Amino acid sequence: MIKAPRGTSDILPAASSQWQELEGRLRKLCTAYGYGELRTPIFEATELFARGVGEGTDIVDKEMYTFTDRGGRSLTLRPEGTAPVVRAFLEHKLNQSLPARFFYLGPMFRYERPQAGRMRQFHQFGIELFGAPGPLADVEVIELAWTAYRELGISDLEIKLNSLGCEECRAAYRQELKRRLAPRLSELCGHCQGRYERNPLRILDCKSPQCQGALTELPELSTYLCPECKEHFQQVKEGLSALGIPAVEDPQLVRGFDYYTRTVFEIVAEGLGAQDAVGGGGRYNNLVQDLGGPSVPAVGFAAGIERILLVLEKYGIKLKEEDKPFIYLAPLGKEALLYLFKTGTQLRRQGIPVYLPLEEKSLKAQMKAADRCGASWTLIVGEEELKSGQALLKNMVLGSQQQIQTAKIVEAIAELYREEGSRK
Ligand code: AMP
Repeated sequence: MIKAPRGTSDILPAASSQWQELEGRLRKLCTAYGYGELRTPIFEATELFARGVGEGTDIVDKEMYTFTDRGGRSLTLRPEGTAPVVRAFLEHKLNQSLPARFFYLGPMFRYERPQAGRMRQFHQFGIELFGAPGPLADVEVIELAWTAYRELGISDLEIKLNSLGCEECRAAYRQELKRRLAPRLSELCGHCQGRYERNPLRILDCKSPQCQGALTELPELSTYLCPECKEHFQQVKEGLSALGIPAVEDPQLVRGFDYYTRTVFEIVAEGLGAQDAVGGGGRYNNLVQDLGGPSVPAVGFAAGIERILLVLEKYGIKLKEEDKPFIYLAPLGKEALLYLFKTGTQLRRQGIPVYLPLEEKSLKAQMKAADRCGASWTLIVGEEELKSGQALLKNMVLGSQQQIQTAKIVEAIAELYREEGSRK
C-alpha cells in the first residue's frame, strides 16, 4: 500500500471544515487591517531562498526540498513565505504606494524530523508590511498576530521579544562572538564549525546539546545595540504596552532566518510541549534590497496552522460544528427513488444540504442511516404517498411527524431550511 510521504498528512473532510473556518476568520481579520491576499507559487528559484533566508541557516543548509526540473533549473519547494512575497513585491512593482500590506496562507515544506507539531509539509498564515520603518509598524504586526490568536479563543500565550540590531551593531557583535568562540571551536558541532567563518551568528541558533554547552557566558547582542536600534526597540515595547499586549524580553531569541534586523518575536502557547511556538516574525530592513530591489524596510509574521489547530484541540475549542445534511430523503420503491432523486437535486441546486440515496433500501436501514448522519428532517416517500400526494416528514430532533403535499415539496422544504437558518 502506498502511504502519504513521511511528515505529511491528509486533511479529511471532518477536519477540513475546521481549516476552512480558521482560514476564513484569518482572512476576515486581515481584511479589517487592510492586508490583501498574495498567492505565490509553491516552488521558486532555489537562489531566492539561498540569498533571502541565508546560506548557513538550518533551512537552507539542511531542510530544503530542492530539485532540478526538466529544463535544468534548480527549484525549491518554498520553506517559508517571506522571500516569495518580497520577490512578488519586486516583480510586480508593488512599492508604488507605501506602506503596502499583504497576507498569505498555504503549504510550506521543510525536510525536518517529523514529530508532534513538526511536519515536512505544514501550513502557514503570514503577513508582511512593507515601507514602514517606524516602531509602530512592528507593533501593528505583533498586535495583529496577538489578536488573531485571541479571537480564536487562545489566551494562554507568551510573546518573546528581542532586538537583533542593524548591520552595524551586528558587525561588532559578530567580531566579539568569534573572539569568544575561537578557543572553543573544537567543542562545537560539525555544522557550527563550518558556520564559524561563514555565518557565526547562526551558531546561537544551534539546538545541539554540544553547542548549547559551549554557548554559555557569551555577551548578549542587546548590549551591542546602537542608540538608534535601542530607541526603536524601546518604542516597540512602549507601543505594545500602550495596547496592553504583554511581551517578555528574551535575549536568547535569534530565530532561524538571516534576514531579520532589529525586532524579532516569537509567540508560544501553553501546553504544546517541545514544539510550542505558534508563530514568529520580525523586522527585515535589508531583504528587499538584498533581493535586488530598492531600500524598503519591512516587518512580518508567520503562524503555523497545524499548531494553532493543536492548541484549539487541547483547549477543546471547535471553531465550527461538523457539516450535516439538512434533510434525509428516504424513498421506498423504484418510482419513489427517482422521484426523490429529482426533488433532492432541485433542493441541492438551491444550496440546501440533502442526503440523497442512490439505491433502494429498507425503511429500517434508511431510518438508521438518517439518525446516524445527523439530519434535522427525514422525508419518507413510497408508492402510496406518490399516489395520495401526501408525504411523511419527520422531525428528527423532536421525533414528531407531519404530512406535506408532494406537489409543493421543494418549496416547503426550502421554507423549513430558511426558518432553521433564521433561528441560528
Ligand atoms: P518560522 O517560519 O520557522 O518562523 O515558523 C513560523 C511558525 O510556523 C512556527 O511558529 C510554527 O508554528 C510553524 N512551523 C514552523 N515549522 C514547522 C513545521 N516543520 N511543522 C509545523 N509547523 C511549523
